[in-house]
Formats: sequence, structure tokens, C-alpha cells
Amino acid sequence: MNEIAQPVTNIKGVGEETAKQLGNLGIYTIGDLLEYYPFRYEDYRIREIHEVNHDERITLEGVIHSEPSVRYFGKKKTRLSVRVLIENVLITAVFFNQGFVKKQLQIGNTITLTGKWDRHRLTLTVSEFKVGEASRQNELAPVYSVGGSLKMGTLKKIIYQGLKEYGNEIKDVLPPFILEKYKLLPKKEAVLRLHYPQSTELVKQARRRMVYEEFLLFQLKMQAFRKFKREQTKGLPMPVTTEKVDQFIHSLPFPLTSAQQRVVDEIMKDLSSDYRMNRLLQGDVGSGKTVVAAIAMYATVDAGYQAALMVPTEILAEQHVNSITELLSPLGIEVALLSGSVKGKKRREQLEKIKAGETHVIIGTHALIQEDVHFQKLGLVITDEQHRFGVEQRRILRDKGENPDVLFMTATPIPRTLAISVFGDMDVSIIDEMPAGRKTIETYWVKHDMLERVLHFIEKELKKGHQAYVICPLIEESEKLDVQNAIDVHAILQAHFKEYKVGLMHGRLHSSEKDEVMEEFSKNRSQILVSTTVVEVGVNVPNATIMLIYDAERFGLAQLHQLRGRVGRGEHQSYCILLADPKSDVGKERMRIMTETNDGFTLSERDLELRGPGDFFGQKQSGLPNFKIADVVHDYRALEVARQDAVEFVNSSEFWKGDEFKPLVYFLEEQGLLSGEKLD
Ligand code: ADP
Ligand code: MG
Repeated sequence: MNEIAQPVTNIKGVGEETAKQLGNLGIYTIGDLLEYYPFRYEDYRIREIHEVNHDERITLEGVIHSEPSVRYFGKKKTRLSVRVLIENVLITAVFFNQGFVKKQLQIGNTITLTGKWDRHRLTLTVSEFKVGEASRQNELAPVYSVGGSLKMGTLKKIIYQGLKEYGNEIKDVLPPFILEKYKLLPKKEAVLRLHYPQSTELVKQARRRMVYEEFLLFQLKMQAFRKFKREQTKGLPMPVTTEKVDQFIHSLPFPLTSAQQRVVDEIMKDLSSDYRMNRLLQGDVGSGKTVVAAIAMYATVDAGYQAALMVPTEILAEQHVNSITELLSPLGIEVALLSGSVKGKKRREQLEKIKAGETHVIIGTHALIQEDVHFQKLGLVITDEQHRFGVEQRRILRDKGENPDVLFMTATPIPRTLAISVFGDMDVSIIDEMPAGRKTIETYWVKHDMLERVLHFIEKELKKGHQAYVICPLIEESEKLDVQNAIDVHAILQAHFKEYKVGLMHGRLHSSEKDEVMEEFSKNRSQILVSTTVVEVGVNVPNATIMLIYDAERFGLAQLHQLRGRVGRGEHQSYCILLADPKSDVGKERMRIMTETNDGFTLSERDLELRGPGDFFGQKQSGLPNFKIADVVHDYRALEVARQDAVEFVNSSEFWKGDEFKPLVYFLEEQGLLSGEKLD
């Protein structure tokens, strides 16, 4: 019998009422309780005054140097201050509403004070104190998150009681060779150290141990699920002719980058295998995803199947049709556009041809997933900018074939490890290399009062015959205000640049109007395009060399990067100008990061560090799992290691048979993953 799996009420002193309160924290079993770790530690180590930062919470030790003085204001409010000598510095210790401590403060006594340090006034606002010397063992105190009527003191007592009664029952699930390999503590020791912190170093070691275990279990679930799922959902084993695919690649106007080649190889393997491909392809803006998609579609058609490519906007669909037709039609492959603008008779004809299998490659918007669209033999589905489509839309498209292979392409640079945890059941391919010879875009951050100079700079570029995008301020959740902004900025710029034509683009225009505005700009009949963020995705006008973004601090880094990717597509040096007066330090840091790096992945990693995963993906749809102790952002290296180990384990026969793996296999069994019923 596993003692740890017993309800918390088995612990001495825990009754039904307390059990209910614990339940509110997600603690039901003794195991839950023992693994309810502190979320931070209060640091009571005595600090040297000169090494402390302003506003830091610290502990100091000194000698009382003056009589305390108390001021009263209001009825119950008091402010008591006393001078304390720390080494040879005289500071002021302030106690709010603690007039009663006055008696304890006698000149000449040693006192230990904890509070917030004001470096400029040499003042400590005291939250805790103790007359006498600090007891050095108590350097760190665990802080647990509590809620409702449960007090932290009570929770601590219960945890300590639990550890006393059941601490010895904590068993390792990790095999000994893993502990050895990564120099990890035995679980029991790690758990004890987390609840009884002795030093930051020891806590770190303990944390490292539990983070690895948590990630490994998580990844094992993923991998077992995937292995199981794959065995169930048989896909189409396509007879891919490697020689012909290679020939096609050689016929391209440029050699593939090695990253593109690697990704192509991964996809070819998936296409010809008999499980269904479910792959996420990430590549920064301009890294060359389209040609990879074209190669995959070529291989599919050559194997006798149809391929579909779904994109979020009409503009993008048309652009893809043009570039892909150029590549595939010389090989006798029929490419067709299916979008909102294809209507009536034309549409009916298209649908007939698709159903009859005469059209091989179909590119379109949502129009692709409407009910009346039937494929003859759909073998591959690709979605571009996949984050723009809902899960449901992707499912409908997939269901239009019989288990077609699926490839999701995205330029949203999600750090690999996060991609793995977010899209756990997908394989992830990354194009992490740009085609040779690209000029880097120069990015500048300027304050609003420099607008004159910026406009002057734009004028110089226009005189060279180049064009500029101007992106308007983003007003959260209000498309109407966004549009108004764009209209205002457009009026101002048109008045300023009288000799040039300034176009205006926003979400309230009809799609035919949008096409018109876009066409004007791409044919250089307008030289400046003022727009809301609708131009974010995919648009390609190589003659544009300037991207000016108003109120850049309102945009996420990922979005700024996407916008920046609209320039630098031709042979000319291009510029991105961020107009921003950020108030916070984080805001300033984000602008600085933009000017420092052109690499989307670095950027998203920095962004995640600054904002946390919830913000990057949007709080609600983050879909990131909650861990007890691990943090996907800060512990991403451990996540990667755990993933590799999990892949290796699940695919080795030893894992399923070996004695030392029994606890892990048992864990998977408990999760219902061996019969494949459940995954949370
Ligand atoms: P994205 O990944 O943003 O969709 P695209 O597929 O639009 O990028 O490619 C951007 C440009 O780079 C296109 O003009 C394409 O022809 C070109 N390109 C793609 N791969 C290579 C390569 N290996 N060498 C040179 N140019 C390339
Ligand atoms: Mg693209």
C-alpha cells in the first residue's frame, strides 16, 4: 500500500475542516501535501549595508543608538523611528503602527531588523525585528502560497507534521543511473531541503532535482501519448520518389539553406512513413518556408495525392498562388486559388476540378474548408501562419481527407522548448538560418519629439525612389480607435508629403478596397502606406525600405518583429524606426532589445523572460501546463534534457521491461496512457 497516496486526514491533527481548506489549494493526499513547495524564500541573511540596492528587502544587524521617538497621526496611526548603528553607519529604522515596540528598544542593545531599504534616506522600513543577535541557522524561511482561511503558519505546521510522519515514505521514481548521471539528490532529501531551507545553494540543488523529475514525467506523458496515438492513427504511406524530389530541389533558382534541407528531409520521412504527420514548422520571417511547402506539395502530388495550403488572408493567398504556380506549373502540376473572391461559375468549376482530382494543389483562405469543397484524394494539408487559425478550423481541413499529413507553418518565433510544451503532440521543425546575402535591417528607437527628423529621413528615402510603411498606434481591443488613428495619421502625412501619394489601409475596408490599396502600393503608385496592423502577415513589397511604427511600446515584441519583416525584402538597405516613449523599465528594455537583435528566436526568448509565457501567448490561450515547481521559461534547458530522455526511454524496450523503470511505467499506467484513454 502506498502510504503517500492516503488522504491528508491520516496526518495527526488534520480534521475534515482543515482537509477542506487544503483541498482548496489542490492538496488531497499526503503526497500532494509533501510536494506543496514554497513558492519563494524569505532571505534573512545579514547583509552589508553598502551592497544593498534601493528598495530591496533586507535584514540588517546593529546597535540601538537613540531613544525611539513616536509620532501619532490619525486615531490609530503611529510612526516610530529610532537610530541604529550598523557597523559605522547610522541609519533610521521606522516602524509604522507598532508603537508597542517602544519598550523593547533600549539604547545599546543589539537588534536584527528586516524591511525595505531606502538607500537615499538611509532608512529601513521595518516589517520584522528581533532584539538580540540573529540566529544564523535561520537564514532562509519558506513562503507558501495560501488562500481562504488557511494561515501560512498552520499550513507550515501541517507540512512539518506530514514530513515527520511520512517523510520516510517518499520514494524515488527516477532510476538510480539518472540520479548519478545528472548528480541529482534522492527525492526524499530534495523534498526535505525545499521545506527546511538551509542555504540558497542547497535549495537550488533540491529544486534542480524536482524540476527534472517534473519535466520528465510531463514529457513521458507526451511521448507515451504520441507513440500510442501514432500507432492508432495510421496515415498514408506515400510512395515518395526521393530522386525526383532531389531533382526538383536542384531545379530551384537557389540552393536550399542547410536548415531548409534538414526540414525537407524530416518532412519527406514523415510523408512516406505510415503514421500521420503532425508537424509544426517554424521559421523566422523571410527564412524561406514557402519553398519548403512547395517541395512537400510536389512530393505529395508526385505520389498521386492532392495538397492544400490554407492561409489567413486573401492577399497572402494570391501571393502564394503566384510564387507556387511559378515553381510547380512547369512540371505539369495544376495549381488553383480558392478564396472569397472566387465566386459563382468560376468557383463551381474549381470545385468540380478539385473533386475530380484534376487540380493538384489548392491554395486558399477559409473558403477551403467550406462544406461544398470535396477533394478527390487529399494527402497533405499545410496551414501558413497557423496561430491565426483556431484549432477547430484546422481540424475541419484535416477531416477533408482520410488522415492526410498535416504541416503547420508559423513565423511566430516560439522558443523551441516552449513549442514543445505547447504543441506537445506535434513534431517541431525549425528553419533557424537565413538565406545567404540578406542585409540586416537597421532598427532605431526614437522618442516622439524626434518625429520631424524621422519624417526628414523618410523623405530622403522617398527621393531615392523607395517606399515606406507607417504603422499606426494600436489601441487595445478597439478596432474603431485603431481605424481613427490610421485616418488621422494618414491626413497628417499626406499634408506633409505633398508631392507623394499616401495610401491608407485598415480593417474596416472591404477586401476589394484592401486589394486596391495594396496593389497601388506594390506597383509604387503610392509611396507611403499608412496602415493598422493588417499588413502584418506575409505582404511582400521589396521596394519598401522603411517601416515606421508609432507608439511601438504598445506592440508585443513578436508583433514588432513581424512588422519589421515587411522591409528588407529587396536589395536595398532597410530601416525600422520605433517611435516610442515607454514609461516603464521593461518597456524601455523591450525597445532596446528590438534595436539589438534581428533574430526572432532570440527576441521571443528575451520577451518571455521579460513578460512571462502567459503574456507572450495571451493569458487565456497560453495552454502552457502548470508545474508545481518548474518554470518553462527559466528552466528550459532542463525541459529539453527531459524531453530527450523521455523520447529515448519510451522508444527503448528496456524501459518497458527493466526493474529500475517500474515506477515510471507505473506512473504512465496510472495516467491511463498505456491503454491510451486519458491525457490532461
Ligand atoms: P517566409 O519564411 O517568411 O515565408 P518566404 O518563403 O517568403 O519566407 O521567402 C522569402 C524570400 O526568400 C523569397 O523571395 C524566397 O524566394 C527567398 N528564398 C527562400 N529560400 C531561399 C534560399 N535558400 N536562398 C535564397 N533565397 C531564398
Ligand atoms: Mg511566408
